[in-house]
Amino acid sequence: MKTKVTIIGAGMVGSTIAYSLVLQDIVDEINVIDLNTDLAKSQVMDLQHSVPFVGRTTISSGSYADCSDSQVTVVTCGAAQKPGESRLALVQRNAAIVESVVEEVFSNNPKSILIMVTNPVDVLTHLAVKKYPQNKNRIMGTGTILDSARFRHLLGAHLDIDNRSIHAYILGEHGDSEFPVWSAATMGNMRLLDHRDLSDGDKHRIFDEAKNAAYTIIEGKQSTYYAIGAGCAHLIRAIVRNRKSVLAVSHLIEGMYGVEDVCLSMPVVVGREGIVERLQVELSEEEQDLLLTSAAALKAAAAEIK
Ligand code: NAD
Repeated sequence: MKTKVTIIGAGMVGSTIAYSLVLQDIVDEINVIDLNTDLAKSQVMDLQHSVPFVGRTTISSGSYADCSDSQVTVVTCGAAQKPGESRLALVQRNAAIVESVVEEVFSNNPKSILIMVTNPVDVLTHLAVKKYPQNKNRIMGTGTILDSARFRHLLGAHLDIDNRSIHAYILGEHGDSEFPVWSAATMGNMRLLDHRDLSDGDKHRIFDEAKNAAYTIIEGKQSTYYAIGAGCAHLIRAIVRNRKSVLAVSHLIEGMYGVEDVCLSMPVVVGREGIVERLQVELSEEEQDLLLTSAAALKAAAAEIK
């Protein structure tokens, strides 16, 4: 069966997701949609010219009708953070854009898996799930897959260990109230809490650096896109190849640790049908409190949508 992804938003993030998919030859077809049709056409041409060096992906720009046969639709359209601005501050600007886009997607393809990337990603994922509750397992936000990758990169660099041997998650909001799960973080199967080269000071510094990475990057180059491009391509591969990967994506939480009716990141299993299993994660008491704080921050932000 042909694998097809539609990417809405041909800006920095949307085009980098497309480029990541092309370089890794993950899908047969990519369809790009943007309000700015000239931008979409130009991004598509540039992407097409990379294909002869790497693979065989077909790329086109189109309309929402073209997403009728896409297995996955990725929403990246809308405003990005300005230097010093939090993700939650984008909520008013992006909620209206995303609401209409999600409607277009599901009216053309009720079965599509929808990946939200636009920020604030958790609040906008929740907006989509509230509107299409029957699709709750097919709607997910990239959530803290990016933060967890930053975390693993920094831990690997500090410990001088291949980051693929570091198993550590940042969960909760993709934003200021996210939290690290030190209680379950391991290197191989050795608990990082027991690692003699990881002091409390190191732990604070590494988590802070991971949490604030976007602010630092945006100060220097206005936006972040390479890591989310690679992360989103990884997520799309898990879906189209039915990998059943465990990933911390944002999804509807229904009662875990008393948290309800909010989207945030906890580890789930992702495959062709979307979220195929929600994992019951053990958190320390302190981590449970941080989860509740993160959920409360996200609920407050969602309540601001007019
Ligand atoms: P950008 O400004 O480069 O691109 C946004 C694009 O959206 C523009 O091309 C614009 O024309 C298009 N657009 C706006 N309204 C539209 C609509 N109604 N329909 C179709 N297209 C529309 O911004 P960017 O740097 O690509 O960032 C996009 C979003 O991704 C931002 O919200 C940013 O905060 C978010 N982001 C999320 C993560 C994450 O981890 N979830 C990481 C990085 C960026």
